[in-house]
Amino acid sequence: MSHDVIVIGGSYAGMAAALQIARARRKLMVIDAGVRRNRFASHSHGFLSQDGVDPTEIAANARLQLAAYPNLRWLEGQVARAEGERDRFKVTMEDGEEHHARRLILALGVSDILPEVAGLLDRWGKTVFHCPYCHGYELGGGPIAVLAVGPLSMHQASLLPDWGPTTFLLNDAFTLDEAQRTRLDARGVTLETTAVSRISGKANVELADGRVLTFAGIFTAPRMQPSSPLAAQLGCAHEDGPLGPFLRTGPMKETTVSGIFACGDVARQAGSVSWAVGDGALAGAAVHQSLIEQ
Ligand code: FAD
Ligand code: MG
Repeated sequence: MSHDVIVIGGSYAGMAAALQIARARRKLMVIDAGVRRNRFASHSHGFLSQDGVDPTEIAANARLQLAAYPNLRWLEGQVARAEGERDRFKVTMEDGEEHHARRLILALGVSDILPEVAGLLDRWGKTVFHCPYCHGYELGGGPIAVLAVGPLSMHQASLLPDWGPTTFLLNDAFTLDEAQRTRLDARGVTLETTAVSRISGKANVELADGRVLTFAGIFTAPRMQPSSPLAAQLGCAHEDGPLGPFLRTGPMKETTVSGIFACGDVARQAGSVSWAVGDGALAGAAVHQSLIEQ
């Protein structure tokens, strides 16, 4: 079946894009496997008018509103393969079913790869986080740990004292130089050089020497990778971000392949629901206009 646009990934970015195209009365399909990045968290923060709402509820509400547009078809499932060129894209589902479109929007999101510390993954989105703007306030003023993964963890360690007394767990991830020490000192950060054995309890850090440090929450920086390899299959170029690769896009969210647009976490260095929705709305309007321009 042929569409003007297929949106792959029907979460915040994909749905925001789809809304613009649906409202332009174009024929589109949204294909979504339903594995949102924030599925580990029960509250989403920082998205205007939805602060503190369950992220599943935000997504469900958006989907309900999209269902009112008869020119939009929603398909649940995983796209296994995408190929083709402007005006002639083909998308193949895991069961072999094929769909065609003139334009593609990749709103695939990213997957987080957490540092390998026992007990960390179980607490991801509950008391272990990556974004202080999303989850810092609820920690009630701390105390807070930052688990280092490398020199880029300096960023989190320098930010977090605004949310509570901060301990930087170096965990042998890197060695601080003098300038870095001075910077952390100026922010009042406590340094802990003993390696971390495991996380236990709510957010307790068990150290290799047997000490146990108690925190309200732990921040760390996962590596991120696109949630599926479709963009690579299609030949879209990636940028190398400090936390992992993301899709290169122009000012109107078009990728390096003509007719393929990308939005949300998969197409930025760091993401949030607000940014995903903003990017998606922009990509949706841009895709619609590209259908007219030829
Ligand atoms: P996603 O929401 O990740 O959605 C991508 C969608 O694409 C998924 O449904 C997936 O199944 C689908 N998909 C991927 N590949 C395919 C395929 N091949 N076929 C079909 N479908 C596919 N942000 C905030 O603003 N506030 C918060 O409080 C907040 N808390 C967070 C807590 C945690 C623990 C984490 C990890 C993130 C949090 N974030 C928060 C960030 C937020 O989750 C992301 O920025 C946001 O989900 C990005 O939206 P997206 O639409 O780009 O991608
Ligand atoms: Mg999306």
